[in-house]
Amino acid sequence: MAFITINEAFICEVCGTENCPAQKTCRNHCKKCLSSKHVDEKFPGDRESQCLGTMKAIDIQVHPKHELVIIHECEKCGKKIKNKKADDDSQETILEIQKRKAESFFR
Ligand SMILES: [Zn+2]
Ligand SMILES: [Zn+2]
Repeated sequence: MAFITINEAFICEVCGTENCPAQKTCRNHCKKCLSSKHVDEKFPGDRESQCLGTMKAIDIQVHPKHELVIIHECEKCGKKIKNKKADDDSQETILEIQKRKAESFFR
């Protein structure tokens, strides 16, 4: 599985973007579409899950320290995992997710 090895370059299975290793953090999601893969079971980085479903970013939360947290949901089993935003994550995609979320709220 090349998708989500800890902090190594990988090609996104969802959008095909080449992701190089992150500078300060462990990259576990695509910097372009923010998709991830369900590989962790109990805590981030344990690589215990047998699911391997695609995890789409469904929500963005702002934490008290003004950190952005991406909420990933597994398309296969529905598990939700929180991930810290990486420095070079696509601002465009983040805005899109926030917009989509706001629109569904008012519908
Ligand atoms: Zn991607
Ligand atoms: Zn899953």
